Amino acid sequence: MTTRYQNAVLVDGTGAPPVADAVLVVDDDGLIIHAGPAATAPPPPPGTTTVDLGGRTVLPGFFDCHVHLCMTPERGLIAGLTADPTVETFEVAERLRATLHAGVTTVRDLGGVPAGYRTALERGLIEGPRLQVAVKVISHTGGHADCSLPGGVDAAPHLGEIADTADEARIAARRMLRAGADVVKVCATGGMGSPHDDPDDEGLTCEELRAVVDEAARHRAKPVAVHAQGAVGIRNAVQAGVTSVEHGYGMTDELCDLALAQGTFLVPTLSTVFAPLDPAKMPEYHYRKKTRWSGISKENIAHAIARGVPIALGTDAGVVPHARNLLELSYLVELGMDPLDAIKAGTLNAARLLRLDDRLGSLEAGKTADFVVVDGDPLHDIALLGRPENILLVAQWGNVRKNLL
Ligand SMILES: [Zn+2]
Repeated sequence: MTTRYQNAVLVDGTGAPPVADAVLVVDDDGLIIHAGPAATAPPPPPGTTTVDLGGRTVLPGFFDCHVHLCMTPERGLIAGLTADPTVETFEVAERLRATLHAGVTTVRDLGGVPAGYRTALERGLIEGPRLQVAVKVISHTGGHADCSLPGGVDAAPHLGEIADTADEARIAARRMLRAGADVVKVCATGGMGSPHDDPDDEGLTCEELRAVVDEAARHRAKPVAVHAQGAVGIRNAVQAGVTSVEHGYGMTDELCDLALAQGTFLVPTLSTVFAPLDPAKMPEYHYRKKTRWSGISKENIAHAIARGVPIALGTDAGVVPHARNLLELSYLVELGMDPLDAIKAGTLNAARLLRLDDRLGSLEAGKTADFVVVDGDPLHDIALLGRPENILLVAQWGNVRKNLL
């Protein structure tokens, strides 16, 4: 059955200005027949269901290209050792549902959950965004994904995969691809939340990163996402030909040139940069690193935005609360991005990074009908998208998953 959503303002995700008095027509295969002015819409076939959107705004379903569904901000490093895995599975399912209801119809998990969640979603066993996974994060001994405790116990074997030479990095990538990874995640620098290293420390070497990029390319051209915060590691990653730099807090002007020349995406995870810091709720090393990097990160990301480096939306949800993903849009705007470009970062640009843009990421005829309907004017107040109660309707493949209309 065809459904015609009418009396809407259309923001199509391509960066084009909004269309007033727009119509979105979806066929019974969940494909878009028309997204544009009512005046040019095809005549509705007999039996069409009509939904009046009352002048509300319709946008593509959003993407979050960087989440960790296995984590929450409250959960410490050692929680995984004592948690009940059955209960954890249901907790992840609940996070998926909440994320979908927050307006995110596609997520990429960059470490910590197995590919079985993707299968469960595809089979309709649970409700959530369509999912891409990295399975685990590859880093060197003592690197960002090495969660070994002082006594030698690995606190997060589901999260980290260790590789210390180019050959080991290649084998680690093969293991992840065997486990069903859609993207290979590697660490080119240390990080904020890891006990053994610093954002300016280097992670895998350029040679090791090249081995991973080469291996991923040999498996149906899989993308490589790189955790990279300090400048030296970012340079190693971009020179190795990775698909996206995650965080990128140390992006210099020269690194913007390099990223632009290579077509490297930046996923700036500003939600973690703007997150309020509470020294009582985090380890001392984490608080110290975050405080030192906050100002630098904002300055560098604002510069990368101004330079036009391709940006896709990602939050690091898990490090920050789940289901508030679209707050990231207001942080991008706060650092100088035009609201339409911020929306594009969360839709069409993100779909390009995830290599789904042939069917997702914008509301255009022939694409899959993943869309949201929101209360208020998000171009006037981008922050309203960050509050799930304003996301009135969420649809995937034309199927309505949430409806507060
Ligand atoms: Zn992350």
